[in-house]
Amino acid sequence: MPVPNKIKIFDWRACKDGLPTKTNLLSKHVPIDGTCSFCNEKEEGACHALVGCKFLGETWLKVLPRLDIGASSNVFYMALKFCMAKLWDNLSIFFTVAWGIWYKRNKFFHDQIVVSPHNATEHALSLLKNYKVVYKKNRRQVQDFYQWKVPQEDFLKLNVDGSLCVEARKAGARAILRDRTRRTLLAASILESDVEEVEHIELLVIFRGLQLCAGMRIHHIQVESDCLMVIEALNQESMSNSLYGEIYHEIKQLSSLFGECLFTHVYREANMTAHLLAQCGRQVESITTWWDCIPDFLSQI
Ligand SMILES: [Zn+2]
Repeated sequence: MPVPNKIKIFDWRACKDGLPTKTNLLSKHVPIDGTCSFCNEKEEGACHALVGCKFLGETWLKVLPRLDIGASSNVFYMALKFCMAKLWDNLSIFFTVAWGIWYKRNKFFHDQIVVSPHNATEHALSLLKNYKVVYKKNRRQVQDFYQWKVPQEDFLKLNVDGSLCVEARKAGARAILRDRTRRTLLAASILESDVEEVEHIELLVIFRGLQLCAGMRIHHIQVESDCLMVIEALNQESMSNSLYGEIYHEIKQLSSLFGECLFTHVYREANMTAHLLAQCGRQVESITTWWDCIPDFLSQI
């Protein structure tokens, strides 16, 4: 089954009922309330946590309409049905989305962070999509695939990246602007507070990066992020119905100041320069920009 290894390991544990669900913790005499933290109605066994909870119904209906939620109380038998029908794509989607839902559950259980089922699903499916593209390529093709690509003619490229520091409720964000000769024209590290989701910080850094570039009288710009969900939403004609609809709207308005503004997805490995500013972003006061004197660690990449 072509899914990332971490999802394979999760699948194995889910099928063997080896996830630390509340039901399993109770069976090991851990003194906790065994009720599902989301619906507060049923005991949190693996099947309820991953599929059966009433707050997941809409998600499963959207991604796998043929999944018969009520028919089984066992994750293994649900997966087996896809195997017997040779629906391999559905099997990958089933396990990937279940992994995303378990991630969402753990974020709440361990960090008290609420991730919506929609965001958890989109994040998991974008991982699967990336993995499938790479899975079909040989080693050389994979290396090429993960290289930073120069922008098209007459364009400058703005790579952005955000990373969360959950404990401090802070996020570091980076933006780096380069031309076709790979010369860095601008690098910025930004610290944002009260940020809890990856989607939020990615949007903020795109917004702030475009604000900086708008002041540089750039005509054609290509914005690259490794957050597929955000890029797909920005390329849609209609407004995103996400929690952050207002920021999407502001980014669209800002992008209209340029002659042309493209939003493209890039794989994390090709976004390393922006990624390397991560630690730096968390240490700066609010925003630090480098215009002429680019830090050494960036110029070596
Ligand atoms: Zn529930």
